[in-house]
Amino acid sequence: MMETALSPERARLLQLLRSKGRHIGNDILAQTLHGLGITHIFGTGGAPVDATLAACARAGMRVIATRHQQAAVLMSLAHNYVSGALRSAVIVPPGPCVTNCVTGVLVGHDNCWPLLVVSGRLAHSRRGSFQSLDGSRLMASITKFAAPIDRTDSLASSVSQAVITATAGTPGPVYLDIADEALTGSAEFCAPGTSAPTVTHPATLDAPVDMPQPANLRDAVSLLSAARRPAMLIGKGARWSAASAFLRRLADDYSIPFATSPMGRGLLPDDHPLCFSAIRGRMLADADVVLMVGARFNWTFRFGNEISSSAQIVRIDVDPVEAAEVLGRGVGLQGDASCVLQHVLGTLDANTTTHPIARDTDWLNELKTLRATFAPGVVPAAELGLQPMSPYEWLGELSTVMPENAITVLDGNVVMTSAQRILSVRHPATRLGPGTTGCMGIGVPFAIGAKLARPDLPVIAIVGDFAFGLSALEVETALRYQVPVVLIVANNGGPGGATRQRKVFPADHPERVLQFVPGIRHDLMMASFGGLGLRVDGPGQIGTALNDALASNGPVCIDVVTNEDTAVSAAI
Ligand code: ADP
Repeated sequence: MMETALSPERARLLQLLRSKGRHIGNDILAQTLHGLGITHIFGTGGAPVDATLAACARAGMRVIATRHQQAAVLMSLAHNYVSGALRSAVIVPPGPCVTNCVTGVLVGHDNCWPLLVVSGRLAHSRRGSFQSLDGSRLMASITKFAAPIDRTDSLASSVSQAVITATAGTPGPVYLDIADEALTGSAEFCAPGTSAPTVTHPATLDAPVDMPQPANLRDAVSLLSAARRPAMLIGKGARWSAASAFLRRLADDYSIPFATSPMGRGLLPDDHPLCFSAIRGRMLADADVVLMVGARFNWTFRFGNEISSSAQIVRIDVDPVEAAEVLGRGVGLQGDASCVLQHVLGTLDANTTTHPIARDTDWLNELKTLRATFAPGVVPAAELGLQPMSPYEWLGELSTVMPENAITVLDGNVVMTSAQRILSVRHPATRLGPGTTGCMGIGVPFAIGAKLARPDLPVIAIVGDFAFGLSALEVETALRYQVPVVLIVANNGGPGGATRQRKVFPADHPERVLQFVPGIRHDLMMASFGGLGLRVDGPGQIGTALNDALASNGPVCIDVVTNEDTAVSAAI
């Protein structure tokens, strides 16, 4: 059916090439991607990739054209993260379109998320040509692999290799810069089967592929067995390993309390009796052994400074360098989280003297008492009754109507701080945020990518007005493809509004630097594109607005008039 849309000359050429067992590069690329399990392509049109995008559609993939290449990369990242595998790729034209991808690629690199970015390269006969750029050199420092491809006959193998590289070990971005001649040339090609290499998921395999070093395993188990106050730190890296069942056994059967990173939330539910994310610092200060899984000692976990200096550390990470970093005290187990945890649990289970391990129950009870003040949904008293509403107040209302299975995307400083605290998470990979890079502007594209990966789940992005502006035009993308995301904008007058403007600039400074023009209506912006815009300007309204938004089954923007004075403290 697709071929009837081709010009007659092109259709004849294709038929001729196929009859000879040869295919043109664009089709080889598209069929290879499809055969590797890619279902969605994000990107923008333009020479020379228009024909590539068309070939991807012909091969059966959904092609989503965005308003900015950064958004295409961010959508693909979220799509892959929520899918738990590399299920989408990015295709863009050369030059500035590639530089526009860089921030998104950095987010993938820093988050350790798989990503494939492909750019088409125009034929250049001389320096200074239109949109010429050595993309591979530019991308080298923020990708696992970046290379030019010049020949049609190496397309299939290079793309397959790139996909394996993106997903093997610690996931990350790969970049291919494909010459126009390779895309339009022809080569022998045998369409691959549809077996899709996914990100390591050995929990489903019969035999675990990673066996931690026996001596390290022994040391780790004896540390955990002897611990009176063990604690777990769970990071988003465990998402790639389907490790939740094993982590849950450590919490349930061995009474190990835990805290998660912002995106690790949901790998074990926030309402688990031993979840102490809200008072992580206190738990870590008291713990005598800390088991860290799929997380790093970076700013997210305060470089390990919250952990008592006398505590031993057991670290599980697929990356050997990361696994070995135990702050000079403890043991690292290198391997996929599920595989290693199976070994740890198997050894703990076999040792009847440590099963169940005696724990300091007084300590656990103390932690529970302290946690009560910080329970999700509990709005600090000082944040109630302000005019306009504090974000804490309307997020508290939102928490009472939020669907239990919703994917929530948080973006922007004030929103991150307040919403991380108020809105709980119960399922893996259902909380997304600025991540390791701390990149604002991810909210709208992450929501669209997540919804395309899981159309069955409600997807609700809660974004600051500054963060919204960084990708706001993608509301048109959501409308064009009818992706029913709910975008809630905390409208507090700019990146800090009047409060921050007054703090940073003298009172008589004549221009609004950290304050937007007054009275901005993000709901009307959405309405101007033909979508549903709703406005919330006081208590008791957000629940109805969210229900109306979800019932509309289309993209919706809810503009919430928000107090400017809410302090920004570090997001957990
Ligand atoms: P967070 O920000 O949630 O604390 P990070 O992104 O800092 O998490 O850490 C993710 C870590 O997870 C990385 O060190 C990465 O190597 C590791 N990782 C990725 N995939 C796996 C896996 N399958 N098993 C174990 N560790 C993994």
